[in-house]
Order: sequence, then structure tokens, then C-alpha cells
Amino acid sequence: MQQQGMQRTLSIIKPDGVRKKVIGEVVRRFESAGIRIAAMKMLHLSKREAEGFYAVHRERPFFGSLTDFMSSGPIVVMVLEGENVIARNRELMGATDPKKADAGTIRASMADNIEHNIVHGSDAPETAATEIRYFFSELEIVS
Ligand code: ATP
Ligand code: MG
Repeated sequence: MQQQGMQRTLSIIKPDGVRKKVIGEVVRRFESAGIRIAAMKMLHLSKREAEGFYAVHRERPFFGSLTDFMSSGPIVVMVLEGENVIARNRELMGATDPKKADAGTIRASMADNIEHNIVHGSDAPETAATEIRYFFSELEIVS
């Protein structure tokens, strides 16, 4: 990670993505875009753990529903590494609301609605660092 412009970001395949059996398809899109998977695991968040992860959205009206959803089944969490990967991952994901997402993006092609939108991706270097730390120890991230 010494190279200029290299970044890490946290990606999550949400419970709807696991239920729809698109883990492979999402990972394929990352790899085809030249993004490296530096860490990956499956886990099932408790309601409390989902609330901890989405704490920034505590005051939003959809917080209860979002954390119910995020704790409704297994998720796949990944550390993605690459040049400008924070923005590039969000381009591959598409807009939060799949109806507004560009054609061909993960959310436009696979998501049902603004809440059940298949993937999460960190939105800035600071949030990426915090979110990666929420799920992974440094020893679990392969350089
Ligand atoms: P994420 O943080 O999951 O990558 P995002 O950055 O595109 O998505 P945020 O605004 O951070 O979107 O919202 C976090 C998550 O909360 C969304 O991905 C979605 O699952 C849910 N969400 C956002 N807006 C709404 C809404 N208006 N109604 C229901 N759920 C929502
Ligand atoms: Mg977000």
C-alpha cells in the first residue's frame, strides 16, 4: 500500500445479496475492474452490531429498519485495495437508490429498492479506516 493513490475501502455484500446468491458476481466485478481483495469473511451481525456499524445514521427515520435488515442474515465483508478504490467501488455500486443508479452498476442490475441495495461501500478515507477496523484486525488484511 506504499504506492501513490493506493487506497483501501470496506465493501459489504448485504443480506439481500447473499440471499440472491450474487456473492460471486459482485466479487467478479471487483476483480474484473482490477481491484484486489485484501481480506474477506462471512458473518451474521447481531442487531447491536449492525447499530454500531451504522451509528452515523442513528437519527435517520430508516435506522431501525436498516439495522433489522443488516442483521437479518449473513453478510460478506471485504477489504478492497487499489488505486482510487473508494470512488471506483462507489461507481461500480451505483447510486443508493437502484432506480437512480446508472445502468450496468451493481445496484441497478441486482437491487430491489433503496434499503435492500446489495452492497455497502465506504465513502471517504476516514470512514474507510473506521469501517475496516470495525471488522478486521491488521493481521487479517493481506498486503
Ligand atoms: P452504503 O453506506 O450502504 O454504502 P450509501 O452510502 O449509498 O450506502 P447512505 O446514505 O450511507 O447510502 O445510507 C446507508 C444505507 O441506508 C443505504 O445503503 C441503504 O441501505 C439505507 N438507506 C439509505 N437511505 C434510505 C432511505 N431513504 N430509506 C431506507 N433505507 C435507506
Ligand atoms: Mg454510506
